[in-house]
Amino acid sequence: MPSAARTTIDAVEVSGKTVLVRVDFNVPMSEGEITDDSRIRAAVPTIQSILDRGGSCVLMSHLGRPSGNGFEAAFTLAPAAARLAEILGRQVDLPSGDCVDEVSIAAVGSIDPGGVILLENLRFHGAEKKGDADFAARLASYGELYCQDAFGAAHRADASMVAVPEAMAGRPRTAGRLLEAELKYLSGAIDSPERPFVAVLGGAKISDKLATIRHLAGRVDTLVVGGAMAFTLLRAMGHGTGRSLVEESMIDEARAIIEAVEATSTTLLLPADFVCAGSPAAGVETSISGRNIEPGLMGLDIGPASISAFVAAIREARTVVWNGPMGLFEISPFDAGTLAVAKAMIDATTAGATSVIGGGDTAAAVNGLGLASGFTHVSTGGGASLRMLEGGPMPGVEALDRA
Ligand code: AMP
Repeated sequence: MPSAARTTIDAVEVSGKTVLVRVDFNVPMSEGEITDDSRIRAAVPTIQSILDRGGSCVLMSHLGRPSGNGFEAAFTLAPAAARLAEILGRQVDLPSGDCVDEVSIAAVGSIDPGGVILLENLRFHGAEKKGDADFAARLASYGELYCQDAFGAAHRADASMVAVPEAMAGRPRTAGRLLEAELKYLSGAIDSPERPFVAVLGGAKISDKLATIRHLAGRVDTLVVGGAMAFTLLRAMGHGTGRSLVEESMIDEARAIIEAVEATSTTLLLPADFVCAGSPAAGVETSISGRNIEPGLMGLDIGPASISAFVAAIREARTVVWNGPMGLFEISPFDAGTLAVAKAMIDATTAGATSVIGGGDTAAAVNGLGLASGFTHVSTGGGASLRMLEGGPMPGVEALDRA
């Protein structure tokens, strides 16, 4: 990823200045409560760095998928503002229900040094997702400097990610600490890994990860594949998968990808066995099956032999990247494979390896288990980290590199 032109927020003078910071406060919510505040915490080093040096912050973010036709209470950033105020131990204002109305403009205009304003959800305007230049120009008027710290949205060309820094040409446009850390670990792991380099992929759908497998083939020493996505590969190899989750339409693609990986130096490590049950529920009777699963059963987690093989590969790694659970980890006992992978990665990290967790479900799983501190880096971006593992475009980063 080119970074020659990229300036970091710590390299610029912010004293007495208002910094417009794109953060990613797109946090999981349940009944109006934030269920995981990792993304808010991850933005704090950048915000604190600006405040400590005498600057003020106007923060902007999206949350969820509102219709884009104005304020919707279900998608307000008010809980995020309250959470950030608690973490920072200072007031965080959320001026109004609209990020570019007169109330917001007046609030930003009278911000005190050391003040923090969080604008309301950018996606209340359909213009955000369209990358609209007029909307961006209105946001751009808020800051003397721009700081991009929303790694979780950096694979999107939304207005706040691309058109705002473009509209701020002539003013410093910088990368925040979170963005820099994410790029360092994700692109560092892929472009210049210490070997052995092991990638672990899982999750439900192989269709989401085909581009990742193609990009990693020949780059990683071992590609470990668990989760339901393994069943589509096993079907392509001629195994019976019972009632396990299979993407029938992807079987030919799966066959082609196996051949593509086998043509490289990468070893493909697939599960040798599975924990199976008649239905995906807690408390059901389970059994262990080899690669051919009986017609009435579903594979819901990797089995003990697979765990041993996966753990051994991970423990030997000097670089290990993981995206996607090994099984139906939300329901015990089908979380055992995911837990074993997490623990093996923590062991490898303790032994000096670099471990990187892709965002999304995998980060939620390790955060929920209280294990996040055991890894070198837990990404805050699901789609964004996958895009980096695919080697695909990152418009939010490229906008800064052009600056
Ligand atoms: P993804 O969004 O593709 O990363 O998939 C994550 C989801 O895949 C999680 O909700 C897991 O419970 C689910 N999953 C992983 N393995 C299995 C499996 N063997 N059977 C059913 N669901 C699974």
